[in-house]
Amino acid sequence: MKIVFDGAAQTVTGSQFLLHINGHRLLLECGLYQGSRREAEERNRNLPFDPTQVDAVILSHAHIDHSGNLPSLVKQGYSGPIYATGATDHLAAIMLQDSGHIHEADVEFVNKKRLKRGEPPIEPLYTQADAVRVMDYLHAEMYDQPFEPVPGVTARLVDAGHILGSAAVVLDIQEQGRKFRLWFSGDIGRRDLPLIRDPILPGDVGGTVDYMIMECTYGDKPHSSPDSAFNELRQVVSRSIARGGKVIIPAFAVGRTQEIVYSLHRLMESGEVPRVPVYVDSPLATNATDIFRQHPECFDKETQDFIRTDQHHEALGFNLLTYTRSVDESKALNDRHEPMIIISASGMAEAGRILHHLRNNIENPRNTILIVSWQAPNTLGRRLADREPTVRIFGEEYKVRAEISTIGGYSAHAGQDFLLEYARSVKGNVKQIFLVHGEQTAAQAFEECLKKEGIYQFSYPELHQSEEI
Ligand SMILES: [Zn+2]
Repeated sequence: MKIVFDGAAQTVTGSQFLLHINGHRLLLECGLYQGSRREAEERNRNLPFDPTQVDAVILSHAHIDHSGNLPSLVKQGYSGPIYATGATDHLAAIMLQDSGHIHEADVEFVNKKRLKRGEPPIEPLYTQADAVRVMDYLHAEMYDQPFEPVPGVTARLVDAGHILGSAAVVLDIQEQGRKFRLWFSGDIGRRDLPLIRDPILPGDVGGTVDYMIMECTYGDKPHSSPDSAFNELRQVVSRSIARGGKVIIPAFAVGRTQEIVYSLHRLMESGEVPRVPVYVDSPLATNATDIFRQHPECFDKETQDFIRTDQHHEALGFNLLTYTRSVDESKALNDRHEPMIIISASGMAEAGRILHHLRNNIENPRNTILIVSWQAPNTLGRRLADREPTVRIFGEEYKVRAEISTIGGYSAHAGQDFLLEYARSVKGNVKQIFLVHGEQTAAQAFEECLKKEGIYQFSYPELHQSEEI
């Protein structure tokens, strides 16, 4: 068989791996490449293979860098099944539609400028309607249940512990009298994340792994623990409320928002922080939360136990918590001055309702802006995390007088130590580990760790590199 590394090769986005097995083509992931506008346009519009020649797709999880170019695949003629867990299907449905909407809005803005320059309009990469068409091809698979995506391949999805519905993909392959296992890690999560179950190590599933395609996003650094993140959250919220302030949290709509809501629920329930109103002000986050509620089968034991006790019926709802949908409800929060917590998107404070909340609260020293995820360079979120004294919001300058707090332990990705444990679990059997989803510095640091462990069978494939195994 042959693996072609058509995305997330020597970079962290645009995941796409095309497998040629027994004369069939099986695509793992169809992610959106995120980078400079020009490069992203070029890569996302021009798929490096003929979509009509692909027989099946398997999707590890719903994040856009893994799923976000499925609408282009279908638009360009793909009409086979797309296998994923049921929770991934539901999350992908709302995230792809949101992505389609963003592409449409983006192009509308660009076309206004083009019109002024007398240039012809351009088409969006895909529309919300294109995203809806993907739903026709999604096939829900249960965790750990074998299915046959193409002849000679038995596939299974196992817990990746990364986001709701996330999976690693185990492929048991029979080809020309040869039997072997290829393990695709998807994005590797972490132990003890709120809500979802822990990741399963490839060495803990019966049988041996012969080849592994493995992510190494954080191959160069360990993370602080989810427990310490929980404690930091308690401290930040307590001191902000004590001085009568609001806590404003920019958070990604899927995953991080639900983790924070669940943590706040537990903190308020146990009396560790004062009971104040909590608002989730993001329509996408509200829709995503509904999907979390529909998939309690993905929750870990701790969450299941928490839900089962008499007084709580669900992890992501409590009487102080309001999910706001309308713009009017969102705006009404601006006129209220008592202590409260507002969680809103976007996660890097680049767009969306969070901008209004920041503008209204950033100059008051009683308030706190709480950063709970990695912030890309040149985003408002990064400027805040870097403690810049003034920032621009909607073209106006604001003095940053609110407390700025950052909590690092919430990452949904494995840090260096767990990645190493993951690789160690296949040591002795694995013939090759293909490192993907990592920038050069992360991959190099991780390669050094592997060598120290006595694991030398690894490579770091280039974009479009093809490997016979
Ligand atoms: Zn992911």
